[in-house]
Amino acid sequence: MTTDPLTIAREKIGCADLLVTFSGAGLSTESGIPTFRDASTGLWANYDPAKLASQEGFQADRRLVIEWYGSRRKMIAEAPPNPAHIAIADFETWHPGRIVNITQNIDGLLQRAGASSVLELHGTLFEDRCNSPHCSHRQPVDLDEEVVLVDCPRCGAPMRPAVVWFGEMLPQDVWRQSDQACRRCDVLLVIGTSGAVYPAAGLVDVAKAHGASVIIVNPEPTPLDHLADAVFHEPAARIVPGLLEDHNAAG
Ligand SMILES: [Zn+2]
Repeated sequence: MTTDPLTIAREKIGCADLLVTFSGAGLSTESGIPTFRDASTGLWANYDPAKLASQEGFQADRRLVIEWYGSRRKMIAEAPPNPAHIAIADFETWHPGRIVNITQNIDGLLQRAGASSVLELHGTLFEDRCNSPHCSHRQPVDLDEEVVLVDCPRCGAPMRPAVVWFGEMLPQDVWRQSDQACRRCDVLLVIGTSGAVYPAAGLVDVAKAHGASVIIVNPEPTPLDHLADAVFHEPAARIVPGLLEDHNAAG
């Protein structure tokens, strides 16, 4: 029996009726997207991202928060999907219905690569939503428009980025679908996430408890490594295409 992690991982993925990917910032590193902490450079070097990405920050200085998100959105809109995003999207093309992608990323790069089965646990940079807890209005962001303060056309409350801020709950419908996918999947492929953030990291426990194989791709060791059937301490763009591509070609 082989103990080569690449062989093991490819066999597991090849046999899976349902593959779930669970990704974090490391999936987008090779697209040139700075991590959240590194996002405060240049003009923004004197601001604390954790304060800007919060209801308190928004209440304290709405314009500042909107402008910060505007600059992040502009930078991310110009970043290309990398080979890992593309391999995931191609897998879905070849095997529709056999992959669900849960992501903590708000960068939309999986969708831009062509993936459509994406559950965004932390929301998206490319939509705004109403800040009122009693209103569910959402709208896409016009990337060509200058950054402006917008009020909700339905209720008049301020519009804000449709992302999850510090201290906020994950969107419950997305969370429920993610939990269900992890209960059903045969393989959970964890990509570029430290496994440190709960409740999201608890999805790995859920999948494992329901009999799934777990494969982890992350440059650094993670607290979840001991749960995995195969672990790769390498960048996503270097490993993920090799895990998925042959199955794509086999169609
Ligand atoms: Zn509203």
